Amino acid sequence: MTASETLAELDAIALAAVARLPATDSGHGQVWKRPDGVTADCGGPKKCDDCSSDALMVAAMQQSINAVKPTSAAVVEIVERHRGERMPEIGTGSILVPNEIRINGQRLWAPQDSPPVVERIEVGTGMSAVLVTLTVMARRVVIDDEPGTP
Ligand SMILES: [Zn+2]
Repeated sequence: MTASETLAELDAIALAAVARLPATDSGHGQVWKRPDGVTADCGGPKKCDDCSSDALMVAAMQQSINAVKPTSAAVVEIVERHRGERMPEIGTGSILVPNEIRINGQRLWAPQDSPPVVERIEVGTGMSAVLVTLTVMARRVVIDDEPGTP
């Protein structure tokens, strides 16, 4: 699938979903949780035509998202933001004291007493990768199933 075909598919899905969008108060609350918490007693995707088409739409959206944005390793940035141009390369001012963590460009809150841990892991003969363990503050944690290609 080319990028333009994927974008055309996304457009078609978006047009079809104008009236019903995930994460909104539309739908029956069976395929996606509505912010208002309402859940229709319709039997869900296996028994309800509306929920069935919503589930197909969500699966197609997830497939398109996966096609456009393949899985990759995270870009983790642990930086010290400071005033001025650059930190000096000699003296005590050259020591970095990180005060910001970003994952894929998103700034995150992290507790001061749980600093990031960066370690090397062996992934095969003569090969290694970097493993980063972070503790970050979460506004919401979602652990749920969702339709789509794993
Ligand atoms: Zn339904």
